[in-house]
This record gives sequence, structure tokens and C-alpha cells, in this order.
Amino acid sequence: MEYAEIFENNRKWIAEKSGSDKDFFKHLAEGQNPEYLFIGCSDSRVTAEEIMGATPGDVFVHRNIANLVPNNDINSASVVVYAVEHLKVKHVVVCGHYLCGGVKAAMQSRDLGIMNPWLRTIRDVYRLHKDELNAIKDEDARYDRLVELNVEEQCINVIKMAVWQKRFLTEGAPQVHGWVFDMKSGKLIDLKIDFQKILSSIREIYDLGTSTENL
Ligand code: ZN
Repeated sequence: MEYAEIFENNRKWIAEKSGSDKDFFKHLAEGQNPEYLFIGCSDSRVTAEEIMGATPGDVFVHRNIANLVPNNDINSASVVVYAVEHLKVKHVVVCGHYLCGGVKAAMQSRDLGIMNPWLRTIRDVYRLHKDELNAIKDEDARYDRLVELNVEEQCINVIKMAVWQKRFLTEGAPQVHGWVFDMKSGKLIDLKIDFQKILSSIREIYDLGTSTENL
């Protein structure tokens, strides 16, 4: 895509959107009320709204290398707090993808400078699930499984947060979902992880003194 094309594309997009709904931009400017928080990878192929069939205003999006929610990362934490506490989203999605370069990099013995601490979060996921992963002899299958386990662990990092526990334990929302995007087929796969069950099992460690009404 040439640089100048972007602005031509933008003009066409404005015409198309205004053509099907003359008040489209008026409504867009009135505010946002998204029901979904999508935490995905920065990979250019994981276009959150497009793969979900969503339109502007539907999804609050955060993307970083390998869709991480590290425990002391103020960036992703701020996104979760804003989405859960202020926007009152109904669903929090962590979406990984097969063939993730960040996950691949964390499986290799390489010094990647400033990216080392970021990718260490994925190495920690590997360590937590070392027995399962090392039992998978096929390297591609092990890579796919690490992508899935990374999604699960990042979702667990969300449910460790007070802001999520407070709302979930009183309202039963937002639901947390772990997804994987398979770019070879275009499919979005729901890993169907039961986070309420996981919360029950880890709560004695991560209990932040929030309400227990629904547990
Ligand atoms: Zn990726």
C-alpha cells in the first residue's frame, strides 16, 4: 500500500460510511459504549475488528507483542482498568494467534536486548507448563500449544486484578475468554477455558478482599 493511498482510502471510507448512514460520524463522535475489550497481538495480520466483523465503537482494543498482560505492566493494566471499571465492558478477550513471532522468539536461545524482559513473560508460561510442553515431541505442535497456554495465562493475569474480581464477584461480568486466531484458515477459536473454575482454584493466593457474593 502506497502512502498516498491511505488518504484516498480514507476519503472513500467516509463516503461509504456516510452513504449507508448519514449520521454515522455524528454517532461516532457522541461517545463509545463497547461491550468487548480485545487484547491481541500487534502482528499486522491480527486485525481485531476485521476478524470479528465489528464496526467502530464495538471493541476497545489493546495490542502488543504476543498479547501479554504482564503483572507489572502499567500499559495493559490501565487498559483493563479503564475497560472494566469505566466502560463496563461485558467481555474481556485475550486473543493469541498461531505462528506468533513473539512466542517463537521466546522458544529460542537468543538475546533480543530490550525485548528480553517482555518475552520472559512467555518463557515463564513455558516454565509453568514445562512438563506438558516438553512431552510434545513435534516442534510445531509444541509451538501451537505454547500459543494457547500463553493466552490462558494472560487471561489468568486479568482475573488476578482487583478491578476484574470486584465486578465479576458482584455482577458475574465481565466474562473472560481465551481465543486463538488461526491465520491459515482465518478461524477464530474459542479455547473455552472455565475462568470461574480457575479463579476458585487460585483465589486463596490472589484474593484481594473483593466481594464473594457470586462464589
Ligand atoms: Zn503475535
